[in-house]
Amino acid sequence: MEHITIREHQIPVVKNVDVFIAGGGPAGVGAAIQAARSGADVLLAERLFCLGGTMTAGLMSKVAMSACNYGLAHEIITRMDAYQGTHYLDSRPEVPVDPETGKIILEQMVIDEEHVDVRYGTVVSGVVTNGREIEAVVLSNLDGEIAVRAKYYIDCTGDGQMAFLAGAECMTEQGESYSSSPTLMFRIGNVDLEKMFRYEEENPELFVREYNTYKRHLMTGTECRENIRNQIYAHMADFVRLIRLRCSEHRDEFSEEDEEILLRRGILFLSQPYPNHVLVNSTTNPAWRGDSNVELSASMAEMRKHCHLIHRFAKRFIPGFEESFLMDTASMMGIRESRRIRGEYVLTQEDIESFKKHDDAVCSNSGGVEIHSGKKNSLLLRELDGVEGYDIPFRALYAKDFTNLLMAGRCFSATHPALSAARNISYCCALGQAAGAAAAELSGSGKKDVRDVDIRYVQEVCRANLATMDNTEYVKKYFSEET
Ligand SMILES: Cc1cc2nc3c(=O)[nH]c(=O)nc-3n(C[C@H](O)[C@H](O)[C@H](O)COP(=O)(O)OP(=O)(O)OC[C@H]3O[C@@H](n4cnc5c(N)ncnc54)[C@H](O)[C@@H]3O)c2cc1C
Repeated sequence: MEHITIREHQIPVVKNVDVFIAGGGPAGVGAAIQAARSGADVLLAERLFCLGGTMTAGLMSKVAMSACNYGLAHEIITRMDAYQGTHYLDSRPEVPVDPETGKIILEQMVIDEEHVDVRYGTVVSGVVTNGREIEAVVLSNLDGEIAVRAKYYIDCTGDGQMAFLAGAECMTEQGESYSSSPTLMFRIGNVDLEKMFRYEEENPELFVREYNTYKRHLMTGTECRENIRNQIYAHMADFVRLIRLRCSEHRDEFSEEDEEILLRRGILFLSQPYPNHVLVNSTTNPAWRGDSNVELSASMAEMRKHCHLIHRFAKRFIPGFEESFLMDTASMMGIRESRRIRGEYVLTQEDIESFKKHDDAVCSNSGGVEIHSGKKNSLLLRELDGVEGYDIPFRALYAKDFTNLLMAGRCFSATHPALSAARNISYCCALGQAAGAAAAELSGSGKKDVRDVDIRYVQEVCRANLATMDNTEYVKKYFSEET
């Protein structure tokens, strides 16, 4: 490959902080809030123009909160409910959230209340290292190239981008040579859901569940209507037979290829806090690897076409969608998995399924393996049976190769199946919180290596959140049945 050489150039160091955070998704937000609350001076760089990452810009606006220390997510959703005058928190373990409410609440919490220096439109484009230490990051934004120095750095980019640029060991490939498929999320507005539910009640033979799903997602139209009325998450997903039937009847309008794309997930609508629109989680890429910009760019354009195809089908053949319109596609790809950074410990599927405990646990999760291959009906689910959680050790939150680099969120140190279990929004936020607490403790006490952290302090911060949990009711409901 041809290379170009750039002459040495000077980059101004615009700030020295205790903690630098790359990425403002759920993990970055958790890290920023906690690091600031623990007394650190924090700068967060976000390449987009809002906080929340996949939850807001990615339109994946449904927070899964199973039995873990989801205290920060709990706090965020409580604030969102208060802002909207709703009570969606009670809907857990799966809470629909409005992405615009998310953006304003996260800015209030991170910028206004914790005084984190958030730089939007700012990409981490380089890392200056000295042996096993990160000395500075190079940021690219409207000002050109600037540098920031910090005592500790937390990678919350989802893609492990800062660690990758630093030369840390990352993991992408796994056995089948593709990662969990991404999804470009979109919303459809002006939908008459009541009409759709009535149609389902009148034609039950068309709405028989054929695809693999969670037990708790098996909802009839009648149950969905009831849930929506009571501000509880509704999962509307039984369109497989309708797709097959209508596509074969109208081949001039929907080709075999269109049908194949529609059948990959069979169309899945998610309810949202505000009425008359649905969130759609249905596009897939069957051969996603997650480590190439060419792949990402092509997927984004291809999946936007699929969003329009899905909407065209719904408008034509799903009663209640006749007057609907495609409201928006997400401003970022919904990436379930790309690079993961190798830590001192790598979480495995075996750890998850044996509910493994660790002395340096910072988070306790109960989500099971959920791998989206992207091919037709190929969602691999292994729901965990029991109320126990498995631990995520602090050793999975710092890079093996560096002394001052932590990571949180979906780029933490886990194998492909383990990440598929432990990537939910509330978990990412909790991991961010642990990393933020650790970075603040380390920088505040002048320690030079993340391995010297006062783990008791971090655990106390994380454990304090357990006090906010009362899972008894949903544990009874969702975890005590026969599978
Ligand atoms: C389709 C889909 C469905 C899902 N379903 C659910 C669900 O139902 N419930 C649930 O709880 N979870 C769900 N998840 C999982 C969850 O949304 C993600 O795992 C979680 O949002 C990851 O959070 P994160 O902070 O690690 O990363 P992200 O949300 O990816 O945030 C990373 C942030 O870093 C920024 N960034 C990236 N690179 C740079 C850079 N170089 N410089 C500066 N900023 C950068 C990005 O712009 C982004 O804001 C789903 C995910 C997907 C994709």
